[in-house]
Amino acid sequence: MSRTNRSTPLINQAIALYGGTFDPIHYGHLRPVEALSGLIGLKEVIWLPNNIPPHRPQPEASSQQRLEMVRLALEPYSSFKVDVRELEKPTPSYTIETLRDFRKEIGDKQPLAFIIGQDSLLSISTWHQWNELLNVCHLLVCARPGYQTHFENTQMQTWLTQHQTKQQEDIHCLPSGKIFLADTPLYNISATDIRARHKAGLNCHDLLPNSVEDYIRQQQLYK
Ligand code: ATP
Repeated sequence: MSRTNRSTPLINQAIALYGGTFDPIHYGHLRPVEALSGLIGLKEVIWLPNNIPPHRPQPEASSQQRLEMVRLALEPYSSFKVDVRELEKPTPSYTIETLRDFRKEIGDKQPLAFIIGQDSLLSISTWHQWNELLNVCHLLVCARPGYQTHFENTQMQTWLTQHQTKQQEDIHCLPSGKIFLADTPLYNISATDIRARHKAGLNCHDLLPNSVEDYIRQQQLYK
């Protein structure tokens, strides 16, 4: 497992990235991205566990443990790959920097997409240099229960409507600049809830893969 190598451009086939803390990875990550892949026709999704997320408390599991859980969860999916570049960085993982890093490798013409959940879209204006994101990639947004499908803030809503597309082809034909709100299935699952359930000694079987659940128990995580 290493950094993905992108020397051959895949014009007309977007490269999709999915970043997260994955503390732990769960079906609220896996199933919407699986559905999105089918909907958009993504040949490959590169999962990027991050190291020190800038806007949130530090993860409970170590980088190595989160990476191992992602690796275990992605095993059944041949089109899902892991990239460790954010984990290897000793500094905060800023999405814009990671995207620019990919952009340098793949060139200006290659379509590049970053996958987020609806909650992340709603708070995107808090991200480092968020206004630059669409210069580098498209945003593919998975539905998440409990989150509005529009911004309360008028400027942000204008930004969304200016960039929104309902054409999947745009994601594969243009290098960047579009937002696609995907009608993916809703999973009311969060890593916060899973950690709390483990602390309370509750079962999490329907929330994440058995292999990840077994690993959590074996490593005595989230006690
Ligand atoms: P936590 O509860 O610790 O905040 P989380 O479950 O939200 O974690 P993250 O690793 O922070 O998971 O999220 C990575 C990405 O996955 C984000 O873009 C987030 O919006 C998305 N995501 C997480 N859970 C869901 C879900 N249930 N449905 C859709 N998207 C989700």
